[in-house]
Formats: sequence, structure tokens, C-alpha cells
Amino acid sequence: MKKETLAIRNQIDRTQYLEHSAPLFLTSSFVFEDAEDMRASFAEEKDRNIYSRFSNPNVSEFVEKIVLLENAEDGVAFATGMAAVYNTLVTFLEAGDHIVSASSVFGSTHTLFTKYLPKWNIETTYFNILEPETIESKIQPNTKILFVETPTNPGVEIIDLEFLGKLAKKHNLLLIVDNTFATPIIQTPIDFGAHLVIHSATKLIDGQGRALGGVTVGSKELIREIYLFSRNTGPSLAPFNAWIFSKSLETLAIRVEKHSENALKTAQFLESHPAVASVKYPFLPSHPQYEIAKKQMKLGGNIIAFELKEGKEAGRKFIDAIKLFSISANLGDTRTIVTHPATSTHSKLNTEELKEANLTEGLIRISVGLEHINDIIKELNQALL
Ligand SMILES: *Cc1c(COP(=O)(O)O)cnc(C)c1O
Repeated sequence: MKKETLAIRNQIDRTQYLEHSAPLFLTSSFVFEDAEDMRASFAEEKDRNIYSRFSNPNVSEFVEKIVLLENAEDGVAFATGMAAVYNTLVTFLEAGDHIVSASSVFGSTHTLFTKYLPKWNIETTYFNILEPETIESKIQPNTKILFVETPTNPGVEIIDLEFLGKLAKKHNLLLIVDNTFATPIIQTPIDFGAHLVIHSATKLIDGQGRALGGVTVGSKELIREIYLFSRNTGPSLAPFNAWIFSKSLETLAIRVEKHSENALKTAQFLESHPAVASVKYPFLPSHPQYEIAKKQMKLGGNIIAFELKEGKEAGRKFIDAIKLFSISANLGDTRTIVTHPATSTHSKLNTEELKEANLTEGLIRISVGLEHINDIIKELNQALL
């Protein structure tokens, strides 16, 4: 079956009430038939729910859908995207291990790499995502994990997943891809050799800016280790949020298609505007990694980065002229969102550090929503004057 059908038709078993849409199982624990049932359940001789920190029907339904969409074997859900990143990394890392990661990663992931993991003598070496040929020289005998996001935030750069898959195999590394920006509708990193794929479900999976969540999928073997670690550390996804995500997944394909259609038209408009110096969008032929984008992505996604000719001051002016769009740090919402990273999410970086992250002071990030394209362009037109 195709992804649209898988996301809609995979549902937990109906209860005795024969409900059509999956109900919400707000229960912290589950009951046993008798002493033998309890013993067998705890001994894991039976695949059944015991306690919602371990598993819950709504959470299982959500995970199963992502597993199918990502061509994975199994998965674990988390309370947030960061809980997914942290618990996934820590499951496999030991004191003295080393990580090789792209320098353009989500802010909190960067903080984990640079501030917290070093507490356990786990060091991270960064590579510039625009220089994949330098990765191999950063691999050490104690390197365990290769970590990337593609497309990146906020620069919308792309790295060749097939190349990374081969590199990970050659050096026996665990390739972990944060696939939040692309969603499994656009790309499935496991097909290119990724071992684990992570999502912040908070973004396009929810799609309406309501709930926080995360998920990691991969092989049965790797997921089992993450599951055993996480059921003891307790970053479990709440059943209510899982229920929301599971419903949202039913429309993920159609939403991502419309988001991408609006974003491509928006990117083309920006590229033609005299106040704009440059535009980065994966499916614009002017994107430096356009060929790679076309190879591994089905659509361009909903994130655009563009540069104003007048730089940082023009960025502030543009944001202040916004009337319809939301000024927010979130993304992947039905509502179009604009951010000026140099004065917000990345304001602590100096000019040199901004350069290191391939980020300039005039860069604006747009998460293109599902409003009518004419209204999106009208808003940009007035804000760019
Ligand atoms: C938002 C985001 C995260 C973190 O997710 P939360 O749900 O906010 O914890 C991780 N990676 C990427 C690429 C993100 O955009």
C-alpha cells in the first residue's frame, strides 16, 4: 500500500464498541486477568500493555504509522523531539565515545553536543555540511555516531544521504538522521543506509502547532535497546498527544504536498523580488545542492531561507512589517511563520560563529503554511516594500 493509505488505515484494534475512529486510552496502567497473566506479561512472554510509561495503545498506533512511513522495523515515541534525540544518543554512547556531526543542527542538539555530553567525556567534532569531503578526516577510532539533519535549519542546506550511508557502513558508524524538516512523505533516510531516523512530531507531523512529541525509528534490534533504556528513564509520549499525532498523520501526505506547492511558488516569487539578494529552497534550480535534492527528496518541503540585500537592519524591518504571518520560532504549522535567526534563535552567535553555521545576518526563514498562495504573496509584497 502507498503512504497515504498506510497512514490512514493502520489503526489499533477496535474495542467492543466498534468505534470507527480510534478512541483515546487515557490510562496509566492496564489490568491482568489473573496471576499467570501477570507473570507472563512481566516476563515479556506476551506482547501487551502493562503501564503507559512502557507502552500505550495510542502511542503504539502512532509509532506503527511512522514505522510504516519510514520503511523501518520498529520505533519508540517520546514526549518531545529533544527527548527522542537525547535518549537515542545516550542509549548507544559510552564514556570516551566520539560523535561526528554536521555543525548546522537544531539549537538544543548543538547544546547537548557541546555542553552536556562532554560531562561524560563524549566529544563531538563538527563538519561543515557544505564540505562533505571533510567528514572522513574527522572520524576517529572511538567515533560511534554520525549525526545529520537534512535539509538543515535555518539554512536549508542538503547533504547526500546515499553518500553518508556508504560512509557510515565503511567506518562502522551508527548513522542517525533527524528527518523533521523533510517528513517521511519527502524522504526516507533508511532507504539510503541510515540506521535510526528521528522526528520532532511537534512540527509537520502535528502540523497545527498544538502538541509536543518525538519519535525514533529503525531496526528491531536498535529500537529494542532504545526502548529498554527509555522505559526506565521515562520520557514517554502522553497518550493524548499520540492520539493527536496519529489523527494528524492521516493528512500528512496531502498537507506536505500543499505546503511544498505553496513554498515553491513563494520561493519563485522571492527569487524575482528586487529587495531579495538570494533564496534557498531545495527545489529551486539555483539551490547549490539542487541535484542531490532532486535525487533524495520527493518534494521541496515548506522551509525557505532568503537573504535581504540590506542585511540585518532590513531583516528587522521586514519582521516589523509583518501583518498576516506569525512571528514565531516554531515551524511546520498551517500558519505561515517568519523568523529572523540572527536576532532571535541564533542571537548569541557572533559574526564568526554565524559564518561557521553558514548563517548570515540578513537571513530570514519562512515556514510556508497552508493559507491561499495569493494571500501569502500579497503579504510578502507589502512587507518587502
Ligand atoms: C524542533 C526540532 C527538534 C526538537 O523538537 P522538540 O519537539 O521541540 O523537542 C529537533 N530537531 C529539529 C530539526 C527540530 O526542528
